[in-house]
Amino acid sequence: MRAAPTEGVLYIVATPIGNLDDLSPRAVSTLARADIVAAEDTRHSGRLLQHLGLQKKMVAIHDHNERDRSAGLIDQLAAGAQIALISDAGTPLISDPGYVLVREARQRGIRVSPVPGPCAFVAALSAAGLPTDRFLFEGFLPARRGPRRAALDVLKRETATLIFYESPHRILETMAAIAEVMGPERPVVLARELTKTFETFYSGQAVRVCEQLAEDAYGAKGEFVVMVEGASARAEAHEGLDVDRFLVLLMEELPVKKVAKIGAELTGLSRNELYQRALGLKGEG
Ligand code: SAM
Repeated sequence: MRAAPTEGVLYIVATPIGNLDDLSPRAVSTLARADIVAAEDTRHSGRLLQHLGLQKKMVAIHDHNERDRSAGLIDQLAAGAQIALISDAGTPLISDPGYVLVREARQRGIRVSPVPGPCAFVAALSAAGLPTDRFLFEGFLPARRGPRRAALDVLKRETATLIFYESPHRILETMAAIAEVMGPERPVVLARELTKTFETFYSGQAVRVCEQLAEDAYGAKGEFVVMVEGASARAEAHEGLDVDRFLVLLMEELPVKKVAKIGAELTGLSRNELYQRALGLKGEG
């Protein structure tokens, strides 16, 4: 008697972002059951499978071949194969390959099932102490200076917590750009080397975090998640406001110190900045 044909399933399997103990038992059993493991880098993932004592047929699927490779994998899924998709670290498709494959599988009516687990930005956000009710994950910022600044400029008024991935080569430049475009006082949290021996969180005003990184001999080493507190509603209040005219009008009624205090409350700008600006307008600066 022939066995009934099995239903092909594409499993999206999360793997550790540093600490191998974070691999879930269900991830292990899914990999063990899979007919094929599709991996971003077969050499890298081959070591994980070896560590688990598994010998599997592997297929490389990365940014440059995903379109071509997906067609073959879809045919195998349609024929009943169980395929596990993994990336080098964390959850596939999150700043990693897999989108084309998953979309095509769904369009063909093939079952796609997640095996959840580690994801660097979720781990970072969960321990950052920044608002988590609304956040915007932006992946990697553009590598070139101009487009990177332009992207930050578009995001500077966003009120949700902003999350970026960054490589060690660019972390100092990116932090400097955040301080410049979003303001030196913008609260930032950096999560470095999560789940690894040198896991470190840096937090504070953007300009201070730049200093902390520069002072730490290991500061620019490892992998980073950059989180920026969203623009506050108060800070937004001064958008479109003629701050100088506002100060002049208030100064007709109040002493400069009070003007700076009330102005800071209403606009979100720093009290000292407004104080100096008001003195300048009064001709005493
Ligand atoms: N798919 C992965 C995930 O689920 O998080 C992300 C892959 S993306 C190509 C790699 C980036 O994720 C790194 O450049 C870094 O920004 C971040 N990342 C990965 N592992 C990390 C870790 N252990 N600590 C901090 N950031 C990490």
